[in-house]
Amino acid sequence: MDDCFFCKIVKKEAPARIEFENDNLIVFQNINPLAPVHVLIVPKKHIAKFSEISEGDKDLMGEILLIARKVADKLGISEAFRVAVANGENAGQTVFHLHFHLTGGWKEKYTRDEDKA
Ligand code: AMP
Ligand code: ZN
Repeated sequence: MDDCFFCKIVKKEAPARIEFENDNLIVFQNINPLAPVHVLIVPKKHIAKFSEISEGDKDLMGEILLIARKVADKLGISEAFRVAVANGENAGQTVFHLHFHLTGGWKEKYTRDEDKA
């Protein structure tokens, strides 16, 4: 996708603070964090939104969750973290390249249940 910003990050045509990368996924710091730790787990393959995943994406989806756990470890938040996805504009999705928010690092119990992150 030529006009997709996250595809540009995947291709290293746009900058990002990368925390993890392999053949299938890239994890980078959110430019506008909504938590003390807030990274985005992004499949390198362009999928516009969660509702477009298919049977063929089964391994990729499993890998995203495993990498979420590993990156949570790496970033020192494995005791308390959240993983969230916004699907569609009314759910708050603003970037139409599938991404999972990994947030954590709170010093007190998380209570903001309105936050999508
Ligand atoms: P969502 O609103 O669920 O679609 O999430 C999009 C997220 O991408 C937001 O939290 C933005 O802060 C984040 N974001 C947008 N552009 C960039 C960028 N260039 N680098 C890192 N994060 C970004
Ligand atoms: Zn894309």
